[in-house]
Amino acid sequence: MPEIQLHNTLSGKVEPFVPQKPGEVRIYTCGPTVYDYAHIGNYRTFVFQDILRRFLKLRGFKLHHVMNLTDVDDRIIANAAAAGKNIRDYTEKFAQAFFDDCKMLSIEAPEQWVRATDHIDDMVQLIQRLQEKTFTYPSEGSIYYRIAKFPNYGKLSKIDLSGIQAGARVDNDRYEKESARDFALWKAPKPGEHFWETAIGPGRPGWHIECSAMAMKYLGETLDIHTGGIDLAFPHHENEIAQSEAATGKPFARYWLHAEHLLVEGEKMSKSLGNFFTLRDLFAKGYKPSALRFALASVPYRKQLNFTFDGLKQATNSVERLRNFADRLKQAKFPAGKQDGMAARIAKAAEEFDAGLSDDLNTARALAAVFDLVREANIAMDKGEFRQGDVAAVQNFLATFDRVFAVLEDNDAEKLRALGYGSVTGGLTDAEIDKLVAERNAAKKKRDFATADRIRKELADRGIILEDAKDGSVRWKRK
Ligand code: AMP
Ligand code: ZN
Repeated sequence: MPEIQLHNTLSGKVEPFVPQKPGEVRIYTCGPTVYDYAHIGNYRTFVFQDILRRFLKLRGFKLHHVMNLTDVDDRIIANAAAAGKNIRDYTEKFAQAFFDDCKMLSIEAPEQWVRATDHIDDMVQLIQRLQEKTFTYPSEGSIYYRIAKFPNYGKLSKIDLSGIQAGARVDNDRYEKESARDFALWKAPKPGEHFWETAIGPGRPGWHIECSAMAMKYLGETLDIHTGGIDLAFPHHENEIAQSEAATGKPFARYWLHAEHLLVEGEKMSKSLGNFFTLRDLFAKGYKPSALRFALASVPYRKQLNFTFDGLKQATNSVERLRNFADRLKQAKFPAGKQDGMAARIAKAAEEFDAGLSDDLNTARALAAVFDLVREANIAMDKGEFRQGDVAAVQNFLATFDRVFAVLEDNDAEKLRALGYGSVTGGLTDAEIDKLVAERNAAKKKRDFATADRIRKELADRGIILEDAKDGSVRWKRK
């Protein structure tokens, strides 16, 4: 099997992936900031992380993957105070929605979930270590990190520090490269906002110290992989490195993987542009969880993903094609024996699928291997050349594919019902329904009853009923 290659933001190169301890991988992922519902851009990054963990598991690695819920940050503290709620009450709804969304998208739970609010003591202790090593200074009740004392500052995001004035400070958790300055490890209490009484004084942690403290507590001082969206590389991850490495004197994370951002119809997603979508928005329009997962997973993580409704419809069709094929394999009866060359063809697809994912998680390449085989096998079936003796090998390959992509199980309607959506209605235009009905007729003509039945079920799931008329034509109506 080929070596796994991953792009490391730290080196700026694609490198062979070798964990510290053979067979085991320690991963930390910055989880959602639970101040609102997460959007499809966030899930782009979470699906990429899921593909990473599933592929590593497929390759036999034992994982210890820690993901946090950022339940302390500027926006949460301010919003909770404005709503007159404590932090847990304010964030609970969004945390729960996040867990539900992950189930919808078949994003596996990491080995460990951690919350910032449960680790204030660990953060305080880490700040104390930095104080002892004189990487900090106090100012007006807050504690700042002195970046001039850490010569490697900027090594991840490659920022130029020459213009930065020593001693200039930034208090916001999130800021741009242009405002790189000494950042707050600990923030003085603000009137009306939540704070903790601690050994380093009253206040609350800055966002960056949270992840350093939680990652090292559970994964040790040097992690194998740290992941997040590209916007986190600066300042968040740069600051995590500065804090952790100053405290321990050891490399903090060996591989940094960052997903490029999702755009909507070519533009940055924003509420003011009206192109901002949560999962709930898309499900309410009739789109399926599996289609969204497929759409998010199909573009390699280092490419910007341009989300469009056309793309989502294509993803819906791609998932259907795969499920139809899996059903056809299960239900159709093929002549006994093996087709000449088919075993080798399947082995080649499996090899190419693995090679694609080993190539810095090139999901597009891996999917091409799957769809090429599906097309060829379907043609062989239509011609009556496909044989029963090849069924198991194709099914094995599909099972391997699905351990990573997780879209084959026909459970969208169930998932949506669990979330309170009655059925997957809407989404389909009359022309699309006509097209599906025509596809079903064509399948019936070819005696591909598995596909015909699947299309009938698909339409029924979406509230569309088929009626066979006496003259042999088929009519449809909405329930
Ligand atoms: P946050 O809740 O803002 O901390 O973000 C959660 C994750 O989503 C982080 O890894 C972000 O980098 C990532 N993220 C935010 N916006 C986008 C986007 N438009 N596309 C892809 N990932 C994003
Ligand atoms: Zn983080």
